[in-house]
Amino acid sequence: MDLCPTQAIVGPYKLDARRCISYLTIEHAGPIDEALRPLIGNRIYGCDDCQLACPWNKFAQLSPLPDWQARDGLGVGSIAELMAWSESDFLRRTEGSAIRRIGHARWLRNLALAAGNAFTSPSLKSQEREALLKTLTAWAQHADPVVQEQVAWSLGRA
Ligand code: SF4
Repeated sequence: MDLCPTQAIVGPYKLDARRCISYLTIEHAGPIDEALRPLIGNRIYGCDDCQLACPWNKFAQLSPLPDWQARDGLGVGSIAELMAWSESDFLRRTEGSAIRRIGHARWLRNLALAAGNAFTSPSLKSQEREALLKTLTAWAQHADPVVQEQVAWSLGRA
């Protein structure tokens, strides 16, 4: 309960899904509540910090199955690099992955939010800042108003 970044676990055995980053970044289609955005940090697809804290999970084993391994550049890359993917890049690179089901627009919304949070990081280098500004600006006129609004919010924090 203490470790949840958005205080979504509101009591023993009680979760407010409206505050849960896994729900917000994967299942939720609209704009993300502005009050929660800074708390999401750089989580662009899910969270599961509570799974890391769960005492039972100390018994978990890493699976050797290929489906559970990082694939095709999804485990690496800066926010700016991931944001540079076109819709066809997104569909190709997430083929066979659960990430694909959120679609390119929601993927961009999540990345744009993370970019907005990155601007407040004292460790952000000027080159990284320029790359984020460039990629956010490139999506500023996206056809989806949710992406547009998120990009505008994030540019406002630069
Ligand atoms: S997934 Fe993250 S945001 Fe959701 S309840 Fe667990 S720790 Fe909280």
